[in-house]
Amino acid sequence: TRVLLTGGSGFIAAHVLDILLQHGHSVVTTVRSQEKADKVAEAHKEYKKDKLDFAIVEDIAQEGAFDQAVVSDPPFEAVIHTASPFHFNVTDVQKQLLDPAIIGTTGILKSIKKSAPLVKRVVITSSFASIVDGFKGTRPGHTYSESDWNPITPEQAVENPANGYRASKTFAERAAWDFVEQEKPNFTLATMCPPLVLGPIVHYLNSLSSLNTSNERIRDIMQGKAKHEIAPTGTFIWVDVRDLALCHVLAMEKAAAANKRFFITAGYFSNKEIAQIIGRKYAQYKDLLPSSSTPGGDYPAEGVYKYDNSRVIETLGIKFRSLEESIVDTVKSLQAVGA
Ligand code: NDP
Repeated sequence: TRVLLTGGSGFIAAHVLDILLQHGHSVVTTVRSQEKADKVAEAHKEYKKDKLDFAIVEDIAQEGAFDQAVVSDPPFEAVIHTASPFHFNVTDVQKQLLDPAIIGTTGILKSIKKSAPLVKRVVITSSFASIVDGFKGTRPGHTYSESDWNPITPEQAVENPANGYRASKTFAERAAWDFVEQEKPNFTLATMCPPLVLGPIVHYLNSLSSLNTSNERIRDIMQGKAKHEIAPTGTFIWVDVRDLALCHVLAMEKAAAANKRFFITAGYFSNKEIAQIIGRKYAQYKDLLPSSSTPGGDYPAEGVYKYDNSRVIETLGIKFRSLEESIVDTVKSLQAVGA
């Protein structure tokens, strides 16, 4: 299949790209600069231009940003849209989080409808952020599934960056489903809703100081920041980036994924468990890690929500990696960039 993958320099997208290439697809990926295109190309030298090529899209928040990228020869048959800001280092929630997420999503769908008529499936990276009701706390007794929607409002969205990020994912995913319902395009949609994504980084794109947001807690624990107090876990469910990347590709390949939302989690985790795994598997960090009596990082005493991940297991046939495997491989990949 001829595939357009957006945000190819991202943590998750780098793994999606690897799996697309392994499955024999022909990929054009968008990145924001030629420098990033060169790094990705260099790391995949064995693939010629007909299997891996690039389009530069500097800012997905601009109207029409994807008008040229969606046109290719041979034409695209599928699109995987992962690009969206995921960090909390913002001063203007509207411009830095909401606009790129929402305009990026509606923009690419409009461009596909207008100029890429052979696209049959669009897969969008949404988030558990569009499912979870953050205002209800840890909600013991509630089971989250694809039928839940984050009720966050535009007013709450601009209150702080954390709300802003969750709202950006919620509004962008809603806009995508609304687009399909109202515009009746030639393609069907599948959305991916993962909670915290952990797993190995691709070293040629990363440095320890510019790590993707979701792996920062592992770096911090390795660097001794949890020695005296472990940071709150926040979200208590997770998935490995390689499993999530495979879900993206299977959701593109499988007819049964059409017009489905997928809540993709491997299960529970806590920051305390991450520290324990690192301590068990990597003796060299012993002096930097918390002890069994260090406070923080645990599950809340009142309990946590349950999750229903049966749809992704049944429809896509996914088998999830364990937390231990994921942490061990993440630490190894962080060591490769100097941790
Ligand atoms: P990264 O920060 O590694 O990737 C984000 C990607 O989006 C980068 O390629 C980035 O490009 C690109 N991007 C951001 N803003 C713009 C913009 N304005 N114009 C063009 N490109 C832009 O994070 P992840 O890989 O973790 O995130 C990928 C997707 O997964 C996002 O949609 C995120 O919301 C979602 N997600 C992630 C989770 C996680 O725990 N990691 C959990 C749930 C969902 P550049 O690096 O050049 O700025």
